[in-house]
Amino acid sequence: MEQQTKKIHIMTAQEVKNIIRDVPDFPKKGILFKDLTTAFINPDCMRWFAEELTAEYEKKGITKILGIESRGFVIAPIVANKLNVGFVPIRKKGKLPAEVIEESYEKEYGLDTIEIHKDALCEDDIVMIHDDLLATGGTMEAAVRLVKKFNVKKIYTSFLVELEDLKGRELFEPEIEVTSLIKC
Ligand code: AMP
Repeated sequence: MEQQTKKIHIMTAQEVKNIIRDVPDFPKKGILFKDLTTAFINPDCMRWFAEELTAEYEKKGITKILGIESRGFVIAPIVANKLNVGFVPIRKKGKLPAEVIEESYEKEYGLDTIEIHKDALCEDDIVMIHDDLLATGGTMEAAVRLVKKFNVKKIYTSFLVELEDLKGRELFEPEIEVTSLIKC
């Protein structure tokens, strides 16, 4: 049987935004959860995310792209591959097998800890740290503190979605550039 190939559609930011599903009261009452799985299942949205971020960072001399577990692991490796640089995971405590450096941060209930392999970065690196969504900014701010321990040359941060009302980007010092593709 002849194989049907799906026609590529070039998305706009508004089209992608419309595809992201709002789930009220998840994971608890009062939170409007931005469910990106409805965009990740759509190859045109996946391409749009990857190409927009690649265009944003291709002239910045990035040497490594870091993704924050777990929703930051979807797009970051694709962009790393397009830029021909390595991908580095930042994971929750206890998941990485070799020697790690860690950083803790306040969550709603107690402390959370993230880790990165000790040999993953060096002082010559220019890194982009990626997560799916910027809410209060606490998670990314901890990731930035973690990466600063390596004395890298420059740190960029990127998100697919930014919840602007929460003003998460105000947490970051001016030298940390914050990029988001879709503002909600
Ligand atoms: P924050 O540290 O407050 O910026 O939260 C960011 C992290 O929590 C990201 O990894 C998101 O995946 C997740 N997150 C927080 N709020 C939401 C939301 N309203 N919808 C989807 N994900 C969220």
